[in-house]
Amino acid sequence: MRRAEILAIGSELLLGGRLDTNSLFLTDELAALGIEVRWKTVVGDDEADIAAAIRVAAQRADLVVMTGGLGPTGDDLTREAVARVTNRPLRRHADAVKGMTQRLAAWGRTPTAAQMKQAFIPSSAAVLANPVGSAPGFCLSWKGCQLIALPGVPAEAKAMFAKEATRFVAEPIQARARTRIERRVLHTFGILEAELDARLGPLVAPRRGVRFGLLASPLGVTVSLTACGGTSEIAALDQATHAVQQDLGGLVYAEGTTTMEEVVGRALTTRKMTIAVAESCTGGLIGHRLTQVPGSSTYLDRVLVCYSNEAKIELLDVPKVVLTRHGAVSPEVAAAMARGVRERSKTDVGLSVTGIAGPGGSTAQKPIGLVYVGFDAKGMGALAKEFRFHGPRDTIKLRASQAALNLLRQWLPVAQSK
Ligand code: AMP
Ligand code: MG
Repeated sequence: MRRAEILAIGSELLLGGRLDTNSLFLTDELAALGIEVRWKTVVGDDEADIAAAIRVAAQRADLVVMTGGLGPTGDDLTREAVARVTNRPLRRHADAVKGMTQRLAAWGRTPTAAQMKQAFIPSSAAVLANPVGSAPGFCLSWKGCQLIALPGVPAEAKAMFAKEATRFVAEPIQARARTRIERRVLHTFGILEAELDARLGPLVAPRRGVRFGLLASPLGVTVSLTACGGTSEIAALDQATHAVQQDLGGLVYAEGTTTMEEVVGRALTTRKMTIAVAESCTGGLIGHRLTQVPGSSTYLDRVLVCYSNEAKIELLDVPKVVLTRHGAVSPEVAAAMARGVRERSKTDVGLSVTGIAGPGGSTAQKPIGLVYVGFDAKGMGALAKEFRFHGPRDTIKLRASQAALNLLRQWLPVAQSK
């Protein structure tokens, strides 16, 4: 297994204003190439500190991936630090000048003197083209270690890595490695972490070389299965994943990088069904999440945020007597909201949420975190389901939105069969 170190460069990453997120995608990409990230270092915009970090990294890793410090400003010092450590002076590189000039010309601009600084890269380094920005990256081999410098801007780092990874990472590094790392990710909702642990532990334990991990968030618990090795380990990983999927059934709502809103969007699209949403305590979060999916206009008709009793009466036809008798946070009101929004908008299904997000507004009978999700579809009576969440206001809102979308996922097939 080849070992990599990620070096995130930039003082903003140490000042509390910004987190190093580049190493997240890099870790995934490198794992897919069979390269294990063993160290991550964050260093500020100080040439001597960057140089010291490169020296340490190159000594212990086969591959060092740097991000940041390649821009045109005075605090961008990655080029200088690499030149100093490797003793390869900075030279103006023709390919870098050409790439940068072409990119800027496409934007109707010519490179400034400061931007020209970006074309100076350590001698004998290869230039990595930047498909989305102006700063080129570079790559060189030093003392048996492959050094790669990518820009800090996440979109640029990703695009450059995607374009150049095979040539400058996979080929030189992977050619020497016989093993790979693979990961399968399953997203669950509606089951506790401890219960998953008890259920899945015995299933995964007998599969040699398969590691299993759980990660809880307001969106549910993510199960990840990882194997590191050759063909037999990867086969064991597939068997373990299959066993887990069989065991969990419908508790798994998505795999890999797929989101709940994408799953629900696909379910509505394949069924050719339309939806309208009425939100109270989630304040439009469900609408935001549904509209994050490109093409959502084919199934989403409208989202109404009806916070007050008056709004629920005026816009959703919730009967006043239902509100006074049961209160705004009740299964009766959730069901009436779902029915009202569906009938008014003439969609196939209506979805609603009402609840107490806290920290105020609770009573002995109605605690903080009490949430009702309503669902209504043509040909079936409106339904409501109760949830009890805990945590701060934004967590309760996020959990409520996830519960509503998950319920939609589960009830859509039932609605279609009616
Ligand atoms: P730089 O290439 O150092 O000028 O970085 C440009 C911008 O990219 C910085 O201002 C940060 O906002 C962002 N950035 C740099 N490094 C990272 C990182 N490791 N993770 C996420 N964002 C980063
Ligand atoms: Mg910087």
